[in-house]
Amino acid sequence: MNIGFVGLGIMGSPMAANLVKAGHTVTGYDLGAERVERLAGLGGKGAASVVDAVAGADVVITMLPDSPQVEEVAPLVVEYGRPNLLYVDMSTIRPETSREVARRAAAAGVRALDAPVSGGERGAIDGTLSIMVGGATEDVEAARPVLGSLGTTVVHVGPAGAGQTVKAANQLVVGGVYGLVSEAIVLLEASGVDPVAGLDVLAAGLAGSRILDLKRHTMVRREFAPGFRIDLHHKDMGIAVAAAREAGVSLPLTGQIAQLMAAARAQGHGSLDHSALLKVIERLNG
Ligand code: NAD
Repeated sequence: MNIGFVGLGIMGSPMAANLVKAGHTVTGYDLGAERVERLAGLGGKGAASVVDAVAGADVVITMLPDSPQVEEVAPLVVEYGRPNLLYVDMSTIRPETSREVARRAAAAGVRALDAPVSGGERGAIDGTLSIMVGGATEDVEAARPVLGSLGTTVVHVGPAGAGQTVKAANQLVVGGVYGLVSEAIVLLEASGVDPVAGLDVLAAGLAGSRILDLKRHTMVRREFAPGFRIDLHHKDMGIAVAAAREAGVSLPLTGQIAQLMAAARAQGHGSLDHSALLKVIERLNG
């Protein structure tokens, strides 16, 4: 298939590379020229603009930072895409924005899906992402072969926007776990207990999680290279808070985690990994 790919960052670059490996012709565009060149070096094609990437594509994928970037790029995809184009936005954005993109796409004869991902840079590189898809069943089935090259779990979770709502739920759980693991580390250290031994036991019991499996040692060593940046998780907590408001529900712990992410940014940690929430909890304790 001819695939247009817009947004070749931490996630988009390895995802586009996996599509090349799967035998697709991938034409990629990013604001950063060096990222476009990197894709060309991996066997893809470099595009000079969004329009250039979209022209002639059977499928267009966007992997952009946030809602404003999707609001800027999606109209170009819809306008310059071929009739019946399959447009899959895999960025994490507001559910309402995804619904609006889908409405406008449908009016122009373009099939749109929201398909945000979980699994991080490692999952993007290994092609093992968890992909939550919102949209019409027949469009999800049409996209499945392409999405299968990017992830091992592809679940159709509902109509347009539902993928983003599931992703918001994912991010509030991930943020909450990081917050509590941070508190556990501060408690263990302040009590004179070896945090590595303590967290090793936690990881093997009911408190176990992938976050403890993957991050407990780097957190104890205070290694916070991203990974997934605090800036992006702060954005995602804003999406979760807005989604809760729209759904008319109260999520008090989500609100607290959103505030801790805001504090992490205010303390200058926006470009660190989200596990750097530990720095905020530490600072609260002198
Ligand atoms: P990133 O900042 O590394 O990449 C985004 C890319 O989009 C950048 O290369 C940027 O130059 C490009 N871009 C921005 N505006 C553009 C435009 N108008 N036209 C073309 N290119 C444009 O971010 P990322 O970490 O790859 O994350 C992308 C999305 O995936 C975000 O929504 C993020 O929340 C989500 N996500 C990230 C991770 C992760 O671990 N990094 C995990 C799951 C989901």
